Amino acid sequence: MKKTALITGASRGIGAGIARLFAKEGYRVVINYYKSGDAAEAVKREIISEGGEADVFCCDVADCSGVEQMVGFAKRRFGAVDVLVNNAGVALFGLVTDTTEEERRRVTDVNLHGVFNTSKAVLPDMVSRKSGVIINISSIFGLSGASCETVYSATKGAVISFSKALSREVGPSGIRVNCIAPGVISTDMNKSLTPADLAELKERTSLNAVGEPCDIAAAALFLAGDGAKYITGQVITVDGGII
Ligand code: NAP
Repeated sequence: MKKTALITGASRGIGAGIARLFAKEGYRVVINYYKSGDAAEAVKREIISEGGEADVFCCDVADCSGVEQMVGFAKRRFGAVDVLVNNAGVALFGLVTDTTEEERRRVTDVNLHGVFNTSKAVLPDMVSRKSGVIINISSIFGLSGASCETVYSATKGAVISFSKALSREVGPSGIRVNCIAPGVISTDMNKSLTPADLAELKERTSLNAVGEPCDIAAAALFLAGDGAKYITGQVITVDGGII
């Protein structure tokens, strides 16, 4: 029986990479997006043209009622949500002293409260089925912190503690919760980096490379599958070996 994965922020970047790989591996995928409707439809078309099953749903993960509607849509469309990948996220660059209250609230609403909203919406069914997997995309900055990305780092650190705490809460119900902490991955989020910035970032990794969305997708696929059935409350760092 095919499983269903709901992937937030899957119109572009890492989320789109996760949707493509999961579909290739036989999952039905729900591609969540907020602003990039055309890109989300293109990911859906690509998956279907390769024989996979996919649908799209537009909502802001920061909006509780939109998230509940999205989970309802996933259940009506494909029966159940077996795997939730909380990938949607926004960056915020700047000094703490230059950060407005509105910016701080928005990044926290999307990166942290979004993870809470989707988890809360899928959990009742997962608990009654006594199975389910939640994978949260954090960041190496959630572990180390990054200068001029303090609010972003704080939200990503909070996603890690949220995941660890939730793994304890729902483990007895057969649900696993893990995090992936990506390093620098080639997506729109990093499009403002210059070639010189990228060269410097590469040099800071053991593998002398920037990662691709497929690198994060491969880790997510592992965490979603039975090969990871005894792994919960963990953070897998996928960063090319930051030195
Ligand atoms: P990206 O290319 O900027 O894509 C972000 C995705 O999130 C888009 O699909 C976007 O959808 C979606 N999104 C943003 N706000 C949303 C909202 N309020 N509701 C629903 N969807 C929303 O970013 P990325 O690099 O793929 O990042 C994906 C995740 O990995 C993020 O959580 C990011 O923090 C994390 N990460 C990235 C890196 C990196 O180097 N790229 C490193 C560490 C961690 P729309 O365009 O449709 O709005």
